[in-house]
Amino acid sequence: MPTLFPVLPFDPVETPISYATRLAAFHTGGRLLPFLHDIGVKPKAFAAGDTEAVERLCAVAGIHSAPVLHNTARTVGKRRSDLRGEELSAEFLSGSDTVFCPLCLAEDDAAANGNPGGRRQRLSWALRVVRTCPQHQIALLRRKRQSEDNRFHELAVRAGARGDPGRARGELRTPACLTAAGLCDDAARGWSWA
Ligand SMILES: [Zn+2]
Repeated sequence: MPTLFPVLPFDPVETPISYATRLAAFHTGGRLLPFLHDIGVKPKAFAAGDTEAVERLCAVAGIHSAPVLHNTARTVGKRRSDLRGEELSAEFLSGSDTVFCPLCLAEDDAAANGNPGGRRQRLSWALRVVRTCPQHQIALLRRKRQSEDNRFHELAVRAGARGDPGRARGELRTPACLTAAGLCDDAARGWSWA
């Protein structure tokens, strides 16, 4: 499998699935699942954070895998994941819900000339204790998964047109993350957010 060109850089604030989704949009104009099949990456393994699957995607993308693996929540047991050496229960992660800040997505859209294929799912949004965007100080929005097809949280499909920024302005709140339990504080110390 040849390396894709031009290289699309990984953003250290995003999840591996976010990067793969942007990669699919950037190189094929299409969605994630057919793209993963085309490059020989098993979707289920990739969704579970399997190291080999992530490394293969990075090799095809022509980027170093270390920063991507650093942001990978790897399934290590029933309803348990490992993220950066910390074992987390499913309750700590957003799981099947798609969570996003509409203003972050609106900025992504603007940077990509209105193309929603450039939206980045921030790693911080995957943590259930994080309820407020650290950058915009507004409530994160949550969408329940409606079908198996939504398991990759493709934001261009799941978050609506332009990320619903109008709704977001009506939901201003204090940064709950800053006052949440110690887990959030630990996360904020060790991890890089947007
Ligand atoms: Zn935001």
